[in-house]
Amino acid sequence: MQDTTMNPFFTKYEYIPFADIEVAHFEPAIMRGIEEELQEVNAIVNNSDAPTFVNTIVALERSGALLERVTTVMYNLLSAHTSDELEELAQRMSPVLSEHSSNIMLNAQLFARVKAVKEGDTTMLTDEERMLLDKTFEGFERSGANLSEEEKVRFRAIKSELSQLTLQFSQNVLKETNDFFLHLTSEDEIAGLPESQRAQAAQAAQEKGLEGWVFTLHAPSYVPFMQYAERRDLREQLYRAYNTRATHDNEYNNFKIVAQLVNLRRELAQLLGYATYAEYALKRRMAQSAENVNNLLDQLIDAYAPKAREEVAEVFALSPYEPQPWDFAYYAHKLQKSKFDIDSEMFRPYFELSKVKAGVFGLATRLYGIQFVERKDVPVYHEDVTAYDVLDKDGSHLALLYTDFHPRASKQGGAWMTSYREQREGVRPQVSVVMNFTKPTAHQPALLTHAEVETFLHEFGHALHGIFANTRFAALSGTNVYWDFVELPSQFMENYAVEPEFLRTFATHYQTNDPLPELLIERLQASRNFNAAYACMRQVSFGLLDMAYYTQTLPFEADIRSFEQVAWKRASLLPVCEEACMTVQFGHIMSGGYSAGYYSYKWAEVLDADAFDYFKENGIFNPEVADAFRREILSKGGTLHPQQLYRNFRGKDATIDALLRRNNIV
Ligand SMILES: [Zn+2]
Repeated sequence: MQDTTMNPFFTKYEYIPFADIEVAHFEPAIMRGIEEELQEVNAIVNNSDAPTFVNTIVALERSGALLERVTTVMYNLLSAHTSDELEELAQRMSPVLSEHSSNIMLNAQLFARVKAVKEGDTTMLTDEERMLLDKTFEGFERSGANLSEEEKVRFRAIKSELSQLTLQFSQNVLKETNDFFLHLTSEDEIAGLPESQRAQAAQAAQEKGLEGWVFTLHAPSYVPFMQYAERRDLREQLYRAYNTRATHDNEYNNFKIVAQLVNLRRELAQLLGYATYAEYALKRRMAQSAENVNNLLDQLIDAYAPKAREEVAEVFALSPYEPQPWDFAYYAHKLQKSKFDIDSEMFRPYFELSKVKAGVFGLATRLYGIQFVERKDVPVYHEDVTAYDVLDKDGSHLALLYTDFHPRASKQGGAWMTSYREQREGVRPQVSVVMNFTKPTAHQPALLTHAEVETFLHEFGHALHGIFANTRFAALSGTNVYWDFVELPSQFMENYAVEPEFLRTFATHYQTNDPLPELLIERLQASRNFNAAYACMRQVSFGLLDMAYYTQTLPFEADIRSFEQVAWKRASLLPVCEEACMTVQFGHIMSGGYSAGYYSYKWAEVLDADAFDYFKENGIFNPEVADAFRREILSKGGTLHPQQLYRNFRGKDATIDALLRRNNIV
């Protein structure tokens, strides 16, 4: 038996005592957390008073505090600072935790109480309380709690089939991606490729024990090859290989799996009482209905199609051949280079990390009056991590913020914002932003690319959503909002990345202190809209495809290649390659959680452009507008429907007009 008095999770702490936490502490804390939560749930179920909002919904929301505290640290460290022991622990705990959660979600007596509250008199509830009630009820409903015993059996079977098939789908794509490689041996075959690409390809060849160069279907190899390789026949070969993955007559073919996935999702939705999977998914989204999604996609097609056609024609005009899809990236890249001669290296000297950080924090100070004060006394999980107190205008404590900027072996790739403690009534949040930015070297400080500055702003936008959270319930706090609304605060901040007024506040050369040249800012802005209409149409075409699959009401039996061509025809602009098929490789909508959700990229862009436009009208640092943004959106989390939150901020609904202006469409 472990001595629990030494386990930091069993002590009261304000800041997570990272230095005292050992991997061995997690399991006993998780087990006790599970036990405590079950006791709390039993107390709710056995309450002899009639179910009320407070004794059932609030009690349930407050339950499981210890478990939440422990698993939050575990999952965050798994992403930001993992180890073999931690991975092993997480794998062992995963079935235990998922069983615990189904024990609660499928507790019939508990659900009966939740349902009684939902169906009782709710007129006395506030908006926030009603949101929590709906979220709780629908959480149970979506876990199958409201089904008959027979339906529950089918529901579980569908769930388990879906999880197997989605895994198989992505494994097939990965297998087909890994299996192909293009082996080249003469200089003439790699003509046009930059030195860095040649070196990578030579390395890849060496690893296979081959002479010459090897190119693969992985993005870092495939994308530059399609942009640079002068040999058209080889581009065609690689293009065909890429776009026919998982279509071949072998065990990795995904055609049957696609039909199964589409049908299982439709069946699941229909079991739960929805006509289509899209209707089920969109019930808990800002977009609300397939009609609203399609309406947006249609508007975008009408607005962008003419410009997009011009862009495609301009690209193909450089080619002496009959247009083919394997020529597009190549000539587009040539055109881009001739129009805007910039590359990411030019910006690095002006984006030294400590200056960028001062710029981004300074932006928050200017907009919201908040201050960031480093806290050397607060424990951190790695020496690269810094903790800050975030203080409000009046000096009161708003949040704790951790920043963690550089890659290391124990960290996942990418960038993200996360919470170590959610805000709720009487509790301020502890949030973290994690990046993988260019590291400093012995001779140079960390010099970022412009894309990295954008990423910083993006994640910092999510962090502000957490920092300003001011709600009663953690379940509705900060970034706990509908999924197609969560990117508004983050993408909104990205707008500043090309604003001269903002860049001038911090972007000076790390050696000479010279300001970022105006010419570079202008080119940055101009190049941002290169082929933007084409890119928009491409996203729209994926959105159309997604919606076509998930608005099916009847068993899906169509030929997938032809279904795809019909579904996105209105938005597709490039010549079609007969054997190609996107659907069987489209992990986002088939296996990655974006089913009936691909539209949300464009949805969020419409919102962030519209919101930023409002700032532009009033000055991009306007404190009154910023205050409204904080008050109506950032602090409100999911306490109101996002449509309403947005209206309260903006005084009206968002339209696509600001996005069109940003993309130079009107
Ligand atoms: Zn984001």
